[in-house]
Amino acid sequence: MLFRSLLANACTLGVLGAASTYSLAPVKVKAQAAALIHGVVRKSSVVQQANMKVELLPALSDNYMYLLIDVDSKEAAVVDPVEPLKIIEAVRKHGVRLTTVLTTHHHWDHAGGNEKMVRLMPGLKVYGGDERVDALTKKVTHSNTFKVGSLTVKCLFTPCHTTGHICYYVTKDNSTEPPAVFTGDTLFVAGCGKFFEGTAEQMHKALIEILGKLPPETRVYCGHEYTVSNLKFARHVEPDNEDIVKKLAWAQEQCSNGDPTVPSTVAEEFSYNPFMRVKEQSVQDHVKQTEPIETMRSLRKEKDGFRVPKL
Ligand SMILES: [Zn+2]
Repeated sequence: MLFRSLLANACTLGVLGAASTYSLAPVKVKAQAAALIHGVVRKSSVVQQANMKVELLPALSDNYMYLLIDVDSKEAAVVDPVEPLKIIEAVRKHGVRLTTVLTTHHHWDHAGGNEKMVRLMPGLKVYGGDERVDALTKKVTHSNTFKVGSLTVKCLFTPCHTTGHICYYVTKDNSTEPPAVFTGDTLFVAGCGKFFEGTAEQMHKALIEILGKLPPETRVYCGHEYTVSNLKFARHVEPDNEDIVKKLAWAQEQCSNGDPTVPSTVAEEFSYNPFMRVKEQSVQDHVKQTEPIETMRSLRKEKDGFRVPKL
């Protein structure tokens, strides 16, 4: 995402005193912005299942990188390693063999670490759906499937935020545990990415027909910590939705402790994410539309100009 929108969406909106540093290189600006905006250090955390482990690694001011580990074989993949040194540290800590980079899209805050990552660990396979992805070795399209150890990774083509955006859906055969999906800047907790290179029709297809059809218990690992500001917009759209009120209180508490609000689940997203709720009367009424795709278009337009309230 762009720097200005990162600031506007940051987890804890405190003093926005970074305006005078706009002319610096993006990475440097973002690092400074993180120090200014976040009074707390964002912590990493691990979601542990019997077959699959996911370490959430905060990066830049509000990005997430993910280390995905197949517990059986100790083979691992990394999603959007924009800060490669943090990945190397996590790989060592877990004692795993990193073989694969999963890139959701070409924006620098997701793919910008790829070149360094492969320099540090030569031989990595770098997957992505767009020629603009740095260090790409395997271009993928919808439904392409490959293995990371005994885990199966299925590529879901979800163009709109960018024309080559891919989400990665991860399952394990015969497992009773929830699958995982890495959604980059397509689906966020309680929100969705901006339509930089696409249309409301495409985002509707991505959210409702592709991601929305995954098993409801699927854990959603998204590209940014935007949950609090997304839920404030959701509350503006549906002031009477209790799920939004509860999730917002929880997310504010998490953020104030430096803890992540990720993952959510597909089922949860249908309960509080206005962009997943475009069929609901209450959401359609808010934007004065009567049909899901037009509702999606109007919601995105409104959110693009929405000023996030402090409380
Ligand atoms: Zn992006």
